Amino acid sequence: MLAADFAQLGKEARNVQEAGADLLHIDIMDGHFVPNLTMGPDMVKALAAACTLMQDVHLMVTDPQNYVDPFIKAGAGSLTFHVEAPGAAAGKALDLVHRIHDLGATVGIAINPETPAEALERLLPEIDLVNVMTVHPGFTGQAFMPEMLGKVKYLRHVLGPHQRLEIDGGVGIRTSHEALEAGADVLVAGAAVFRGSERAGTIQLLRGDYPK
Ligand code: ZN
Repeated sequence: MLAADFAQLGKEARNVQEAGADLLHIDIMDGHFVPNLTMGPDMVKALAAACTLMQDVHLMVTDPQNYVDPFIKAGAGSLTFHVEAPGAAAGKALDLVHRIHDLGATVGIAINPETPAEALERLLPEIDLVNVMTVHPGFTGQAFMPEMLGKVKYLRHVLGPHQRLEIDGGVGIRTSHEALEAGADVLVAGAAVFRGSERAGTIQLLRGDYPK
């Protein structure tokens, strides 16, 4: 949603639902973990009233533990926090995973480009999704980092069949296909969908469905 028209977010959400999107990906930035500021739980609540898509909330924040309750209460279906977040440092991350599950949402862990996949090892059996950042987090519109595909392949190999593997950042038609081939099964596409002209067609192409 970071690439949507902020002056009409409800309309944008309904429009991509009609165009065939499976979920809304909401990037939350606190101006500290990343230098940018975006939106908060009130936006999630408003989007939940505007459409029925599941909201996949990506917390790019220093202290994810402070945001779990407000976002789930607002209607988030999935919460993803960063393995690099100081508030989720060793010992605290697992408690956070359990708290999110207890509140009825699914849990993802996001991993920055410079962090090796091994950093996730202890958490992997407990979580529902891994978000592999394919740009440096903070701003929309950056170029996809193809060198992250090795991390995607490795994670697909170690994740179970019901665990999702998401790529986030710079996802377009060509890069989405490379990521699908590497084992990704959730594609976060911002600019490609919202700033293109034909959204339903773009979503089909991102999935790898070509019109006959
Ligand atoms: Zn994201």
